[in-house]
Amino acid sequence: MIIIASFICDFDIFFTKFARDLNHRNLFTHSVIPSLFLFLGGLLMNWIAMIISGLAYFLHILVDTFDWGTNFFYFNHKNLGFGMLYSKEEVDKIYISFKNPIAYFDFKYYKNKTVLSLEIFFFILMVFSIYFFSPKFFYLIIFYFLALLLHILRYYHLKKFEQNK
Ligand SMILES: [Zn+2]
Repeated sequence: MIIIASFICDFDIFFTKFARDLNHRNLFTHSVIPSLFLFLGGLLMNWIAMIISGLAYFLHILVDTFDWGTNFFYFNHKNLGFGMLYSKEEVDKIYISFKNPIAYFDFKYYKNKTVLSLEIFFFILMVFSIYFFSPKFFYLIIFYFLALLLHILRYYHLKKFEQNK
């Protein structure tokens, strides 16, 4: 349940067409609100797994503020975050520079050394925390590698696609 809570919000990508600027991170699911409901619901029911699920959901939203930012408080419709990778000029001409706009995000993400260092840092943190807090669920790490594989395959697919102009 905790692990599912940590990534379930990314399935809002299927509702991208309803999002402002066609960015799934502007949807309600990428705001802080669902994690508050989980957290408070867990407190009310005195259910520790649900409280930690709320924290896991919150961490996802927090980490998403590092690179492009998220619609954190939802109702003020403001993209909040460090926006480490965000550049308005580049985003404005995204359809001129790329055949598939996702390529822009993928290329920029994987070329950034700070982002890659953060990825490695969070990976190590994940391995240690599973090892120390719930070693019997260690096998679940397989889902991390499956997701990683999907992202790497997408990256190389986009690279090939963009080169064939
Ligand atoms: Zn996300």
